[in-house]
Amino acid sequence: MRTVLILGAGFGGLELASRLSHSLADEVRIVLIDRNDSFTFGFAKLEILFRDVPPERVRVPYADLAHPGVEFRREEVSAIDPRTRRVVTDKSEYEPDILVVALGADYDPAATPGFVEDGYEYYSIEGACRLRDRLATFEGGDVLLAILSVPFKCPPAPYEGAMLLYEKLFERHIDARLHMISPMDSPIPVSADTSAALVEALNNRGIEYSPGRRVYALDPSRHVAVTRTGDLPYDLFIGIPKHRVPAVVEASGLTEGGTDGWIAVDPHTLETPYPGVYALGDCADAPVPRAGVFAEDAAHTVAAGITATVRGSDWSERYRGRGVCHIEFGDGLVGKVDADFLSGPAPVAPFSAPSKELAREKAAAAAARLDRWFPGSNRRI
Ligand SMILES: Cc1cc2nc3c(=O)[nH]c(=O)nc-3n(C[C@H](O)[C@H](O)[C@H](O)COP(=O)(O)OP(=O)(O)OC[C@H]3O[C@@H](n4cnc5c(N)ncnc54)[C@H](O)[C@@H]3O)c2cc1C
Repeated sequence: MRTVLILGAGFGGLELASRLSHSLADEVRIVLIDRNDSFTFGFAKLEILFRDVPPERVRVPYADLAHPGVEFRREEVSAIDPRTRRVVTDKSEYEPDILVVALGADYDPAATPGFVEDGYEYYSIEGACRLRDRLATFEGGDVLLAILSVPFKCPPAPYEGAMLLYEKLFERHIDARLHMISPMDSPIPVSADTSAALVEALNNRGIEYSPGRRVYALDPSRHVAVTRTGDLPYDLFIGIPKHRVPAVVEASGLTEGGTDGWIAVDPHTLETPYPGVYALGDCADAPVPRAGVFAEDAAHTVAAGITATVRGSDWSERYRGRGVCHIEFGDGLVGKVDADFLSGPAPVAPFSAPSKELAREKAAAAAARLDRWFPGSNRRI
């Protein structure tokens, strides 16, 4: 029996394991590895930060994974050799027939001088808890929210952060001036309608928005952010940290040929240049934004490829880079952008205006994923 080894039980790895269990449970052995004991949705960090939801409430234990044919192992991957498909972990070694790298993206806060010393972030669970505690004692002033580097996870998430932060401070009658800074020229370049809606929402709340501007460093002694067009003083600095591949991926050589240190893949098949080795999700250099919904769609393509390989059949399914992203606007309202990057001659991404109905749709989509990834567990967050 052939072995499929999936590194990373995040959005992409969980979707792939579920798909393969469904289609190939009796034909392959599927081993799924993650260093954590539980899965957490990216958007759950907003719940921790703004809705005082305790982190343990949004963690879904891998102990609840019960897919036929799938073995979950809690191990830390320490080395990957894509030429031989040999993987070393803190507990074992593997030489699978098919290897899928779905290890996501790590953060590199030290890449922005002064950020570790004087900045806050909410892209990690620890960072969301720390910022939550800081907000509880924040008495007002200048708040800068800056995207420090591109690409970063979930392009709408910084704007969701700005709007939910405004709501939180407004509720507490805190006098604050919010300023959002991004090196990009618009929030969601693929969707002019979504970008316009987000910019309008920022304007309506009096949140200053500076597109095309980058924060290079913080000066903790003066509490100023350094940009090419001048220093910006702050009382609270929140940054979306620079992203990078996990160190174990960088050391593997898989990033050779990829843009800016991401894993080179065939954009149609998610195959790396190494036979039998795929990469999907945030760590892969596919022509889509970093977001769970695109990792999930990539997992469908890789599952089809593995199924065809195992059965010796034709494989015509190609990665389409599709995904529906829900966007929190505050006040219980959620909008959505329905993106399709690769099916047609040009990407399309129509926008649906914020509504309570879409808030329910977002919750239902999360529940459906948990049912699919952790069948029978009835987990909800
Ligand atoms: C605030 C915020 C809001 C977001 N909102 C959304 C949203 O609404 N919709 C959306 O689609 N996306 C959203 N995202 C983005 C989404 O979370 C990620 O894009 C998605 O999780 C990527 O999936 P992945 O499988 O590539 O990586 P991940 O889900 O990050 O999974 C990677 C896994 O690899 C494991 N791992 C890493 N290194 C090792 C190692 N050495 N050994 C063992 N295991 C390892 C990690 O523990 C992790 O479980 C949001 C992100 C943030 C931060």
